[in-house]
Amino acid sequence: MVDNDFEYGDSAVRVIPLGGLGEVGMNMMVIETDDDLLIIDCGVQFPEYSTPGIERVIPNMEYIRQNRDRVKAVLITHGHLDHIGGIPHLMRIVKAPIYAPRFAAEMIRRELKKSGGRDLANVQVNTVRLERDYRFGEFGVQWISVCHSIPDSCSIYLDTPQGGILHTGDFKFDNEPMLGLPTDYQALSEIGQRGVRLLLSDSTNAQDDGAAASDRIAAEALYRVIAEARGRVIIASFSTQVARVQMVVDAAYELGRRVAIIGRSMIESTKLAQEVGHLHIPDGINVSVAEANSLPDDEVIIMTTGSQGEFEAGISRMARGDHRDIKLVEEDTLILSARTIPGNEIAVNEVLNNLARRNVRVVTARSRPVHVSGHAKQDELKTMFSILRPEHFTPVHGEYRMLKAHREIAIDMGVAEENVNLILDGDVLELDVEGVSVIDRVPAGYILIQGQGEWDIDSSVMEERKSLASDGVVMVAMAREDGFLVGSPRIATSGFIDTSDEARLIRDASQALSQAIEPVLSDLVDWNEMDRLVRACLGRFFYRRTKRRPLILVTEIELEPGRTD
Ligand SMILES: [Zn+2]
Ligand SMILES: [Zn+2]
Repeated sequence: MVDNDFEYGDSAVRVIPLGGLGEVGMNMMVIETDDDLLIIDCGVQFPEYSTPGIERVIPNMEYIRQNRDRVKAVLITHGHLDHIGGIPHLMRIVKAPIYAPRFAAEMIRRELKKSGGRDLANVQVNTVRLERDYRFGEFGVQWISVCHSIPDSCSIYLDTPQGGILHTGDFKFDNEPMLGLPTDYQALSEIGQRGVRLLLSDSTNAQDDGAAASDRIAAEALYRVIAEARGRVIIASFSTQVARVQMVVDAAYELGRRVAIIGRSMIESTKLAQEVGHLHIPDGINVSVAEANSLPDDEVIIMTTGSQGEFEAGISRMARGDHRDIKLVEEDTLILSARTIPGNEIAVNEVLNNLARRNVRVVTARSRPVHVSGHAKQDELKTMFSILRPEHFTPVHGEYRMLKAHREIAIDMGVAEENVNLILDGDVLELDVEGVSVIDRVPAGYILIQGQGEWDIDSSVMEERKSLASDGVVMVAMAREDGFLVGSPRIATSGFIDTSDEARLIRDASQALSQAIEPVLSDLVDWNEMDRLVRACLGRFFYRRTKRRPLILVTEIELEPGRTD
C-alpha cells in the first residue's frame, strides 16, 4: 500500500455506525474524537411485516443523546430518505448545523417543514460547495461528487488527527449519468495520493458481479417500452428518482405523449428538482390527472409511487382497483422501474399478482432494463480500491452477507486481511497510532415510529401487537363495588376463535375462572392480585384447550353505590 509519512496526532478517532451496517436503510454514522463529534447521514428504514402498524424505523440515537454537547455538525451525503429521513428526530436531540449537497439540502428543508413543530423552525441547513474545504473542530471535511440515482450525491472525505477517512456514501461509476455530475475521479485520485487510512465503502451490490449499467441503458429501455405501448403507460418508481422522471419526460416529448404525476411525494420532489435546475420539463408535457383522463390513452403516461408495494401508494391502489382517478384497462402497460429493497418482496409480489389479475401488460427490470442500479457492483468497488489504495477498510451500507462479500473484494484488492474490520451497528472502531481495532459497543438498534409513538423492537407494545396479530385477544370485564366483586366476570374475544366454537369455550372458561377466584372472594379483594390471578387462570385454560396464547385484558368497573340493589 501507499507509504504513509503522515504524522498521526494525539487524538484517537472513533468510527461508530448507528445504522446501515447490518441492514439496508437507516444509514447513520458517528465519527468522533474526545472533543468533537460529527454525524454522517441520518436515515430511516421502512417497516417489515413483523412490525404491524409501524410507519418508520430509525436508528437508536441514545449515544447521540448522551454526547449531544460534542456534536459539531451533521454531514449529509445525498437526499435519499434512508440518509436524511431521520433528521427531524435527530434535530430534536441536538442543536447542530446540517451541511448537505444542494438537492439533499432542499429535501431536508422539506422534511423538516413536513414534520412541523416550532422546535425545528430554527434548524440551520447549509448547502455545501464542492470546491470548498470545511473545518469542524479537529476535522477537515470535503464533499466529492459521485454518481448515484439522485442528483448531487457525494462522498465525504475527512482529514482527521489519525489520517484521511473516506466515506463513499452511495455511489456508482457512470460516465453517462442522466443528470447531475459524474463521479469526480480526479478529486478521488488526489485523495488517494494523499493517503487514505480508512475507507468506508457502499456494500449494497457487493454480491453482484460486473458493473452497474449506465442511466442511458434505462433511458433507452424505457423509451422502447413506451414506444411499443398501444394504450396508456403507467410507471412506478421512487419519488426521489428524478433521473427516471427526466427519462420519461424526454421519451414523452419525442413520442407525443403527456405526463401526469400522481402522489404528493413525487409531485413535491419533481417540483424541487425543477427549482434547483436538475429536471427540465418542456412546456405542455406535464398535465393534471384530469387532463390525462380526457386525452386518448395512447397519448398518456402516468408516473406514480409504490414500487416497493407500499399499501397506500398509487400503483398498489390501481392494482387493487381502488384508485380514485385511475382505473386500469387491458391495453395499459405498467412499468415497475425500481429494484425491490430486501424485506419488501412479499408486498411487491402482491402488487404484481393484482396486476396480473387485471390482464395489463407488466414490465419489470427482470424482463427489460427499465431500472438500473444506483449502487456500484463488484468491478466498480474494485475501481474504488485501485483509486484510493486504502490502508484499512470497513464495509458500510448493507446486510451482513453484503458486508462480508465486500470484505472479500477488499482482500482481493490487496488490503491486508488484518486491516479489514467487519463491524455492525453499535460497534466502536478506534483509529490510533497503533492501528485500527474494535474497542467497545454503544447502544444501537431499531426504534419503531408510529404517529407520536416511539418504541424499541422488544418493547411491550410490540410484544403485545405480535401476540394480538398471531393469537387474538380475550377481554375480561369485572364489576366491583366498595372493593368487592359483584356478579360474575364477563368474557369476550376478538380475533381468537370461530364464532361457532366461541359460546362453548367461553362458558367453560367462565366456569374455570369462577372456581379459581372463589377462594379469594370472601375478603376484600386485592385487585392487583385479582388481575394476576385472572390472567394466569385464563392463560392456562386457553392454552390447554387451544394451544394458543391470546393477549388477555382484564378491566374492572367500579359501580356507583346503590346500582346493584
Ligand atoms: Zn441513495
Ligand atoms: Zn442508501
